[in-house]
Amino acid sequence: MELLKNKIRQEGKVLSEEVLKVDSFLNHQIDPLLMQEIGKEFVKRFSDQNITRIITIESSGIAPATMAGMILGVPVVFARKRKSLTLTDHLYSAKVYSFTKKESNDISVSKDFISNEDTVLLIDDFLANGQAALGLIDIAKQAGATIAGVGIVIEKCFQPGGDLIRKEGVRLESLAELQSLKNGQVQFVGEENN
Ligand code: 5GP
Repeated sequence: MELLKNKIRQEGKVLSEEVLKVDSFLNHQIDPLLMQEIGKEFVKRFSDQNITRIITIESSGIAPATMAGMILGVPVVFARKRKSLTLTDHLYSAKVYSFTKKESNDISVSKDFISNEDTVLLIDDFLANGQAALGLIDIAKQAGATIAGVGIVIEKCFQPGGDLIRKEGVRLESLAELQSLKNGQVQFVGEENN
């Protein structure tokens, strides 16, 4: 998605060979017009699926997921993160190791907001090692929901998340695919380094 790639080129900050900071439009301040275009792009890419709910994770998945939900006219559910869950009644939960925070959280979704009658689109901001997305897949499976696929705003293709999701047999659509963050440079898949 060229609009998104341009925004990353202009405003993305390479923090290390593994971490890209996009606080000015996705992770702290939000660019609503860009989010709207991102929502449209997700809807277009999954237009062959009869999606009934969108599931994401708090907090940075909420903006792009909400835009897609608004266009489709379906509810958006965000999995909540907790250090560890004691009461798990009426919740589907999964353990997720956070790439950026280097800690484990339980993520959970109420049984009220996902069921075996749903076809769910799972959306998140970044894909790195795939733990967040695999946690959402796990929750959708526990609920017996049909998984339309995973939609990611920025995939770091040099990390293993993409392969892990495809190995689960789940369709993956990423709107910006990073090949590398070496030498402080953002390089997208399909682009030569100059
Ligand atoms: P994963 O579970 O795929 O290892 O990591 C995905 C989660 O970690 C995303 O929800 C995102 O919040 C965070 N994350 C991973 N890599 C990056 C990155 O390079 N930049 C930012 N801002 N967040 C990241």
